[in-house]
Amino acid sequence: MFSLGWGSQRRPLASMEPMTAPDPLLTFTTLSCYPPDMSRVIEAKCECAALPDLAVVPMGGDDLDIRVFATLNPVREHGDTRWWLYLSSCTACCQNWLIAQEERIFDDYFLKRLSVAEADQIVASARWPEEFRTYERVLTVGHALSNPCRFFDPLDASLVWTVHDLRKERPAMTSEEIAQLIGSTSADVELMLATNAP
Ligand SMILES: [Zn+2]
Repeated sequence: MFSLGWGSQRRPLASMEPMTAPDPLLTFTTLSCYPPDMSRVIEAKCECAALPDLAVVPMGGDDLDIRVFATLNPVREHGDTRWWLYLSSCTACCQNWLIAQEERIFDDYFLKRLSVAEADQIVASARWPEEFRTYERVLTVGHALSNPCRFFDPLDASLVWTVHDLRKERPAMTSEEIAQLIGSTSADVELMLATNAP
């Protein structure tokens, strides 16, 4: 349903509006402040310091997402099958964040504070931290920090996509485990597994 391809977000984000360049390298060199420029920290006007190292930022609601993402610029997106995952850098304080954009089950952003070395590994070697590398992990973090959405339709397409993705990611995952992660029942998960993903 969702791709991080520039301009394809279901919800336009203030932080991503300047991101018109499709080339991540161009993005990196022109818009991010990675590697850090410590002289700018003094002038930092951003939410980074107020966030915990592993943070949840709801989409919409009290507009925390607008405040947080006002200074975050995407540096690299993982792409491939991990469409939810990208690296952003704060233009105000140069903090790097690993971000999972979860808009199927929780409608939240999950942010993990990264060291310069960790961000370096992503940019230089395409080596991403373990956190958020699987969708199961993203949803597990979601349950620790947030609450899943309530779906009017228990077989909503977002649920069906997620059920199939989770099973593909870890074929031994049980219906009960999947149900717990997406806030459903194992009976509905069985139904969704029996249907083709829309
Ligand atoms: Zn910041």
